[in-house]
Amino acid sequence: MQRQTDPYLRERLHDLDDLANRLLRELTSPGKGMAPVAAELPENAIVVARSMGPAALLDYDRTKLRGLVLEEGSASSHVAIVARALNIAAVGQIENATGLVEPGDALIVDGVSGEIHVRPTGDVERAYVDKVRFRARKQEQYRALRNAPSATRDGAQVKLLLNAGLLVDLPHIKETGAAGIGLFRTELQFMVASSMPKTAAQQALYRAVLDAADEKPVTFRTLDVGGDKILPYMQAEPEENPALGWRAIRLGLDRPALMRTQLRALLNAGGGRDLRVMFPMVACVSEFEAASDIVQREIARLIKHDHPQPSSIALGAMVEVPSLLFQLDELLKRADFISVGSNDLMQFLFASDRGNARVSGRFDPMSPAFLRVLSHIADRAKAAGKPVTLCGEIGARPLEAMALIGVGYRSLSMSPASIGPVKAALVEADAAELEAFVKPLVANADGAASLRGAIEEFAVKRGLQVAP
Ligand code: PEP
Ligand code: MG
Repeated sequence: MQRQTDPYLRERLHDLDDLANRLLRELTSPGKGMAPVAAELPENAIVVARSMGPAALLDYDRTKLRGLVLEEGSASSHVAIVARALNIAAVGQIENATGLVEPGDALIVDGVSGEIHVRPTGDVERAYVDKVRFRARKQEQYRALRNAPSATRDGAQVKLLLNAGLLVDLPHIKETGAAGIGLFRTELQFMVASSMPKTAAQQALYRAVLDAADEKPVTFRTLDVGGDKILPYMQAEPEENPALGWRAIRLGLDRPALMRTQLRALLNAGGGRDLRVMFPMVACVSEFEAASDIVQREIARLIKHDHPQPSSIALGAMVEVPSLLFQLDELLKRADFISVGSNDLMQFLFASDRGNARVSGRFDPMSPAFLRVLSHIADRAKAAGKPVTLCGEIGARPLEAMALIGVGYRSLSMSPASIGPVKAALVEADAAELEAFVKPLVANADGAASLRGAIEEFAVKRGLQVAP
């Protein structure tokens, strides 16, 4: 089947693989699901698999699962994002991992370096004990910074926000000292459920999130399903290119009942408070307008039924489809804010599948092309006087975050574990100096594939903590 020229038939090999796995599981442990039940999973369990979707990872007992090793997978694939949110060390692209590891083997998963050690010797284990101690000291340094102002040495305020999506994320707001939630991925609730969550369940989650945020701003993103975010209970037609297919706002506009239900839940949860909602995968201004119209109709309904309304409503769009880059001014006239989804923007701009380990690392987000695009977005937002946040994975790495400050970003949203390292770098940085270095570098890069080396050298010379 691998030799089939028709990609659709070739893809079916994965289905057969999946079937074979399920069959094996059924034969060895009849009647059980894919993930072992909580009682079966040992403490400090590490799952080793060929590949895994984000929904499958959520099947495992989170109190026992400590690590994930995949033969496929890349840093910005959704399973990696979910693993990070759950604070599970995850490593991808380990060739033949399932062949190398036996059940019960001791394993060290280094989520920072992307390495694993199978049946480690005493020396390696001791080296890691030291490493863990060192990291714990760093964590202490980050904790000490928690309540320090999030500003550069020259006084530029840089808002650091959280990416979240599950109830387990909520304590991180206080722990990290984040300024709020910059991206709440509402689809995660749908992905962990075995049937479509009812309005009441959606509303309860949104209310819990707003309660936990305690007046700090929360930006809810409407359902971003499709692509690799599959809802097991929603029948979808097979698509040749699911990432470019019927997903996110496309699905929401074609199935307005689904979108209405979610907006209703958001508006009800936001009664008497400030509500921020953004739409994913917007490709043209008219999609943003159509989605905003649905919100307006739902508000009219609230008024008609005398339900409490949010005290303010801000509507925004994710900038992650390249077509929007040529409609930014028109979009910014209508949207209250924008948020750059650099994961998808990078994937679509470079035609490089974010979930395909073979190509996902091929192009550098620190390339002149990508930094020019990001710089352009920041400039247009500034000219329109509208806030812009970047909520993709690149904002979560200290060096990249410094480059983003250098092209004009003052608001970044990231996984909880990244707030400390990014803050540690930014409080030592000088924003004006970064801009004076990065902007001309980006503008004048003559054919360079990446500016990483130059920006790193600059940052290291200035004594910034930019190592991952
Ligand atoms: C992105 O695309 O950068 C993003 C933040 O959204 P997601 O990773 O959920 O697609
Ligand atoms: Mg996206």
